[in-house]
Order: sequence, then C-alpha cells, then structure tokens
Amino acid sequence: MVISTTSAEGRGEQVNCTFASRYVRNVLPKFQMPETSMPKDSAYQIINDELMLDGNPRLNLASFVTTWMEPECDRLMMASMNKNYVDMDEYPVTTELQNRCVNIIANLFNAPIGDGETAVGVSTVGSSEAMMLAGLAFKRKWQNKRKLEGKPFDKPNMVTGANVQVCWEKFARYFEVELKEVKLSEGYYVMDPAKAVEMVDENTICVAAILGSTLTGEFEDVKLLHDLLVEKNKQTGWDTPIHVDAASGGFIAPFLYPELEWDFRLPLVKSINVSGHKYGLVYAGVGWVVWRSKEDLPDELIFHINYLGSDQPTFTLNFSKGSSQIIAQYYQFIRLGFEGYKNVMENCMENTRMLKQGLEKTGRFKILSKDIGVPLVAFSLKDSSKHTVFEVADSLRKFGWTVPAYTMPANAEHVAVLRVVIREDFSRGLAERLISDIDKVMREVDTLPSQVSSKTAHVTPTVDEVVRDSEVAVKSTVHKSETEAEQEIVSRWKGIVKKRGAC
Ligand SMILES: *Cc1c(COP(=O)(O)O)cnc(C)c1O
Repeated sequence: MVISTTSAEGRGEQVNCTFASRYVRNVLPKFQMPETSMPKDSAYQIINDELMLDGNPRLNLASFVTTWMEPECDRLMMASMNKNYVDMDEYPVTTELQNRCVNIIANLFNAPIGDGETAVGVSTVGSSEAMMLAGLAFKRKWQNKRKLEGKPFDKPNMVTGANVQVCWEKFARYFEVELKEVKLSEGYYVMDPAKAVEMVDENTICVAAILGSTLTGEFEDVKLLHDLLVEKNKQTGWDTPIHVDAASGGFIAPFLYPELEWDFRLPLVKSINVSGHKYGLVYAGVGWVVWRSKEDLPDELIFHINYLGSDQPTFTLNFSKGSSQIIAQYYQFIRLGFEGYKNVMENCMENTRMLKQGLEKTGRFKILSKDIGVPLVAFSLKDSSKHTVFEVADSLRKFGWTVPAYTMPANAEHVAVLRVVIREDFSRGLAERLISDIDKVMREVDTLPSQVSSKTAHVTPTVDEVVRDSEVAVKSTVHKSETEAEQEIVSRWKGIVKKRGAC
C-alpha cells in the first residue's frame, strides 16, 4: 500500500481550520514584512480579530462623520472601489456625477448661477482640503491685488474665532498666513463679529466664519459679520471677503433654517466648504468647496493635465483618490431629495432636544449648546468641585459609549465640557439608553474619591467665581479691611494664573 507522504505539512494546513493553523500561533509582524506569504483566510481572520477591539462606530458619539448608509448605497460604493477618481477621461460618468453634486450644493447655498450655467467647485477628501483650497484662492487674489497696487504682499493674515477647527491652524502654518483669532469668553463660545471686524487690516485675506462651531454646534452670526464688514470696507476702501466653514452646518441650515442668511445671499461670502461625510450623509472621505463665481477662483491655481486623455482642469491638493464617496453623495441627493434631508435633520434635532431634556432632568449638567445650530449637545458639570467631565467620559466608556471631554479654547480654557453629536443613526432608543447610562455613571462617580486635585482635573474657577467667593469672604469677615480683602482676591488670582501656566 502506498501512502502519500507528499507535503504532510502542506496538507495539514489545507485541512486545518484557521484557528488551528500555525499562523494564529505566530507573533504578528509589526516592523518588517514577513518572509513568507500566508493563506488569505488566515490573514483575513487575524486582522478581523484584532479590529474587534476598535470601538463600535455607531456608539462613537464624538464624531460628526457618517457611520451608517443604506445597503443599496453600500453596494454602489463597493462596486466602484476600484475606480480612481482622477482618471476622468476613463470614468466620465463619475466626473459628471461630481459636477452634478457641485451644482446641487452651489444651488443649495444660493450661489448666483444663471440658467444653464455650471457652478464653480470641486470635490475634496474632506472639509480640510476644501478650506485649504479656498484659503489659497483668497491668498492668491489678495497677493495679486497688492502687487498691482505696488504694496507689500508678504504678510497675509486671516481672522477667525479661537474656536476654529484645527484645519484652519494647519492652513495658517502650512501656507504661511498669520491666524488672528478672536478670543472667546465664558458663556460666549463663538467668534464675536464686531471684534473680528475690528481685527481686519489691509493684509487680511479673508474672515472665516463657522456655521456650526465644532465645540458647541452654535452658528456664528455670518449676517452680522457681513454687514459690519461691508461698513468697514466702505470706510477703508478694502474689499475683505468672507469664507464660511460650513463643514457641519452646510447640510443643516438649508433644511432647518431656510430663512437664515449665511451663504451666497450675502455678497461678501465668496466661498463655502462643507463635509459630504458629515451631514451630507456619506462615509468618510468626501468634502466640497464651492465658489461664488469664476472670478473668485484665480485661474493660475487651476492645472490642466492631458496625460490621462483629454484636457482636464484640476485644483486639488492630492491627485488620486477613490470615486465611491462621490457616487454615494449623488445617491444621497437623489434618493433623499430635499424632503428626505429635511426629515433626517429634523429627526436629529428631535433626538437632540430629547437628550438635552434628559440631561437637564438629572439636575447635574449645564447645557452649553443653543437651540439653533448643529444637532449636538455640549454640556458641563454644574458642580465640578469633586469630579470632572473627564471622569464622566471615562466611566461612559465602560458602557460602550465614546463621549469626548475637552476644555474650551482661549480665553475660556477653564470651561470643560462633554459633547454628544447626534447623527442620523443615533435613534431615539439609543438616546434613551444613553441618558439612563449617564445617570448610572453619575451615581457611580459620586461614590468615588474626589479627583479634582490631580493633574487631570480642569476645574480652575472662573474669574466670576473667584470674585464672587471673595465677596462672600469679605462680607463674612467684617473685621478685614478693604485692602486685605482686595489682596486676597489678587493672591487667589495669581494662584489661578500659575495653575493655568502649569497645564
Ligand atoms: C469637521 C470640521 C472640519 C474638518 O472637516 P473634515 O471634513 O473632517 O476635513 C472643519 N471645520 C469644521 C467647523 C468642522 O466641523
């Protein structure tokens, strides 16, 4: 009898299940490519297993970015995974879908487009790339104008609120534009239009307003900013323009607050960016920038390439990228229509209100978000003398929820908040569940020793609190002279400044 001895080992691998194979017993390579290959099912299983330890995207309440789409759209996306968007000549239909999206968005933002005219805009990887393109257009336009006037053009600046998203700070650093930030104050967490206009000078390439502050969801008052800037331009002879960073609010305002004037209805608004992957309802990887008109996008920033086929204009920071997100954006536009988007946004707002009420009912939180804005709830602890929002965030993780906690930017650093973003897939049931879990967490936190003296605590008292406490101290210690009481206030202040400096 002949027993085949060929490749007992190889045969073993074929009949063994993945979990009994040698691959799951080996140490996984972390620095160098392994010498040999492994079977595809093992590679799949190993990576899949490691990924199980990532958080659940649907319970990630930190992010605005879409975590759920309809299965029909998932199918369209999977089918176009292998299309490089930049090959426009090879995939003319995909390019056409992008152009349709640009037109739809420009019209949604009330761009002055004549009948049959196409809008000026482009798809990007996200709002960050989109706003960098917009920023570059402003910078170049300003430089060209200064050159013509024979004036220096080496010190461009841009005015924003201190609450800007990090992408603006990146733009400023990467493209050498000074960022002039309007400071915030306690209870006022967006850019003050009057202060912003005050900061504008002849080197200002644009003022950037945010529709939907990342920190609280509040809309900045673009209309007031616009009217004040029109006035200033009249007085100075400048023509400082406005950019609106509508990353999160661009797909909220048109549906929920159609009367609100924040977009191209205001003549100084020259460009707007919006994230398709936030309330545009597409998975991560798509943003949009649209310009008011051709004149607002300097020609010299547009490159023309012909090595992929016919002449193709391109104005983006990177070259190759996927097509799926653009196709998915068009799917959402035609599938949902204005009616569908409005429904989704109304529903998000409804759940936001419910969550706010639930939080208020606990009696433990102060809500910082306004009623009008992006559907999110930013809230702080009413009593932060023993425990901090950072502890609450940590404890919520045990229930599976990711809720970020952070401190506000200058000059409101002493305010620490938790933030829950309400997305389409955050249903009422989940909202109810979250409220009950927060309630449990608060009761648990109460039983823990106070963390406030530790380094992680951000509970520096506010100016008002110090003054108020000191006033109480003054009243209750009648024997103290006025100067003694004043000295006490000053020394407590010094303590605060020191503490902040140490952070
Ligand atoms: C999210 C966000 C950005 C960055 O957008 P990406 O699409 O993630 O690049 C910029 N500005 C604001 C106000 C945002 O909310």
